[in-house]
Amino acid sequence: MKIDKIEADGYENVVMANDPETGLKAVIAVHDTTLGPALGGLRMWNYTTEEEAIFDVLRLSKGMTYKSACANTGLGGGKAVIIGDQRKDKTESLMRAMGRFVDSLGGSYITAEDVGIGIQELEWLQKETQYVTGLSRQSGSSGNPSPFTARGVIRGLFACTEEKFGTSHLDRLHYSVQGLGQVGGDVVRCLSMLGARVTVTDINEDRCMDFAALPGVEVVRGDEIYDVDADVFIPCALGGILNGDTIPRLKVKVVAGAANNQLLGEEHAAELHDRGILYAPDFIINAGGIINVSVEVRPEGYDERIAVAKIENIYDGLREVFETSRRENLTPAEAAYRVAENRLEEARHMNGQSVADSTS
Ligand code: NAD
Repeated sequence: MKIDKIEADGYENVVMANDPETGLKAVIAVHDTTLGPALGGLRMWNYTTEEEAIFDVLRLSKGMTYKSACANTGLGGGKAVIIGDQRKDKTESLMRAMGRFVDSLGGSYITAEDVGIGIQELEWLQKETQYVTGLSRQSGSSGNPSPFTARGVIRGLFACTEEKFGTSHLDRLHYSVQGLGQVGGDVVRCLSMLGARVTVTDINEDRCMDFAALPGVEVVRGDEIYDVDADVFIPCALGGILNGDTIPRLKVKVVAGAANNQLLGEEHAAELHDRGILYAPDFIINAGGIINVSVEVRPEGYDERIAVAKIENIYDGLREVFETSRRENLTPAEAAYRVAENRLEEARHMNGQSVADSTS
């Protein structure tokens, strides 16, 4: 296997592997390990060019640094991508070559599931490297992150409703939810159980039918979800859904959901802010899954009680972001980056000090 270094400003280590024997073509980006080893998922995608793959892995790994810094996971940010067709190229030999590639970084990068990669692939990787997380519960790993992500969203809703409506009575508000998958489904079940009113949508009709049977839940079709006169919009499907077309339609006062990269562009954070809509930065409110995985990386191993206790901190994380946003007149998205930068800066300072202390 040939491994080449790729120069990327502001990144600790970016490497590309080419393995003619198995057909593996992959990139690992370690963005920042100030707070700990760089953890981030492995994505398999049919990128049309190497540049496209490199662009994606750089963007995603940097995002993981900020996400982990805000969530206090004790981890840094990294990501890996395999250039290939997930329907044809996902063989054991290719995955094992990827495992050796991960292993070659000696633990500075720890991998996990992402688009195109499931438990089977992680098990193949694990035959070659110990730096794999998110395997099955039976194997002592942290398992499916989705219930933990949903739990974090509910916890985050408390911070949002207190900030915007001055209440932590989630049951007194009306929610609109886009996407009834693993995370959105759990969130809706929880809100319905609390006695709240919930308007939902999903492109999967069967799923809509199932949820329509729950108390307080009504279903709308597709795009109508943006027009619902609710208090809180909870996006749990796709990215890019907060944009110039949808934001003017929103009647809600809060947007707080699990979907990744909800804002189409940075300017849309400002548009929400100007309209008086409180936006919970997605990478903070959806951090339950990464927090759960971070507990697996501890030397003592995974413990669900510790994961659940840490996920409660999403509430405090959001409060800090909203306070910073108010105090410094920033959008919550900008405030979240400020909080993460401060945390990294503090850790760099401490690391510098401890090196100085040990040499004096
Ligand atoms: P999922 O695939 O289980 O569910 C997504 C649901 O959205 C599906 O039911 C799908 O039919 C629906 N959907 C797709 N397009 C839609 C549309 N245009 N309108 C309405 N519904 C639509 O995914 P998930 O694991 O529940 O994750 C949901 C979102 O949260 C994703 O953006 C994911 O990246 C993000 N996220 C998930 C986790 C996790 O732990 N699962 C962690 C962090 C972020």
